[in-house]
Amino acid sequence: MRALGLYPYFRTIESAQDTEVIINGRPMLMLGSNSYMGLTNEPRIKEAAIDAVRKYGSGCAGSRFLNGTLDIHIELEEQIADFLDKEAAIVFTTGYQTNLGVISALVGREDNVFIDRTDHASIVDGARLGFGKTFKFVHNDVSDLDRMLSLSTARGKMVVVDGIYSMEGDIAKLPEIVSVSRKHGAAIFVDDAHSVGVLGRIGNGTADHFGLTNEVDIIGGTFSKSLASIGGYVAADREVIEYLKHHARALIFSASMAPACVAATQKALEIIVNEPERRDALWANTHFMLDELRRIGLDTGDSESPIMPVVIGETERCFAMWRFLHDAGIFVNPVVTPATAPNRALIRLSVMATHTEDQLTRALEIIEKGARSIGLIGS
Ligand code: PMP
Repeated sequence: MRALGLYPYFRTIESAQDTEVIINGRPMLMLGSNSYMGLTNEPRIKEAAIDAVRKYGSGCAGSRFLNGTLDIHIELEEQIADFLDKEAAIVFTTGYQTNLGVISALVGREDNVFIDRTDHASIVDGARLGFGKTFKFVHNDVSDLDRMLSLSTARGKMVVVDGIYSMEGDIAKLPEIVSVSRKHGAAIFVDDAHSVGVLGRIGNGTADHFGLTNEVDIIGGTFSKSLASIGGYVAADREVIEYLKHHARALIFSASMAPACVAATQKALEIIVNEPERRDALWANTHFMLDELRRIGLDTGDSESPIMPVVIGETERCFAMWRFLHDAGIFVNPVVTPATAPNRALIRLSVMATHTEDQLTRALEIIEKGARSIGLIGS
C-alpha cells in the first residue's frame, strides 16, 4: 500500500482537531474526527485545561488507588454520576482501559459475557482478559442473543453492547436487548463512547434516548470524542463502583487522568449540558449529510447518527476512493477487513456540530465525483 501511495494511516496533523486541519502545510476538510460536538479547539475548554496545569501541574505521578487522586477527579465523578442519573461513577485514564478494567473485573470464572460481534475492540479485549466465557451474537440480532442466553447455564451473565456502533453509525436496539437480558437475568453494560453528547435529552447517551436509564445496569464511555479530552468513565450502582475501585486492574495499576484532561472534560460536560443548540446543529448536519449521500445513490448502511459509512465493497476500491478524497483535500478514514466484514470495505465519514453547510456541500460534491471515478455510481 505504501509503494502504491495508498497508505492512509498515521497521517500527521499540524493543527488543532477542528472542521479543518493542516496536513503537510495544506488545509483539509476534516470528516474523519470523533469530535462530534466540535469542542476540541474550544477556547473555554483550553483555558480550563491551562488553569488546571497551573494549579495541579502536568501529571499525577501515580494511580487513583495510591497517590493519583485529585479533588477534581472526585468532582468529575460526581458530575458524571449526576449527568447519567446513576448512583456513582469512576473515571479511568482512557475508554479502552475502562472496558478492560470493568469487564475483566466483573466477569468471573463461572460467568458468561455476551458481546455484539461488532462491539469495539476494547470490549473484545476486556472479555478476553476476564476469566469467564465469551459469546458473540450476530450484530444487533436480538433473537440470536436470546438463543445464546437461553443456552447458558452460567451463574452470572452480562450483555455488552455499543450505544452507537463506531464504524457503521447504527444504534443498539436497546429496548429489545433490555427485555431479552431481563428475561434471562443478565446484567447490561452499554458503551456510550460515540453516544455521549449525541443521544439523550441532555447528551446523556443511549439509555436516556430510549428512556431506559434504570434498566441499563452499567453505562461506560470515553472523554476522547464529544468531550474533547482523554479519559474514560463508568457509572452504575454505588456497590458496583466500589467493587470496581478495588478490583479493576486497569484502574489500580495505571496512572490517573492528567489534571488538564480532567478540567477539560469538566468544562466540556458543562458546555454540552448548557448549550443544547450544539446538539441541534450536530443533528441538522447529520440529517443533511445522510439525506444527500443517499440522494447521490450511495449506500450508507443502517446509519442513523453522525457516523456514516459509504460502503464501497472491495478493499482496493476503497483505498482508491480514499486517495481521491485525500487528494481533493478531504480527510476521511478507510475501514477494511477485519474491522468490517470481507468485501464490505467502507469510507467512514463523521460530521461535527461545527461543520458549516458550505463545508458539507463542498465535501458532497467531491464525494460524488470520487464515487463516479471508481464506478460506484453511474456517470
Ligand atoms: N469504546 C468505543 C465504542 C470506542 O469507539 C472507543 C474509541 N475508539 C473506545 C471505547 C476507547 O476509547 P478511548 O479512545 O478513550 O480509549
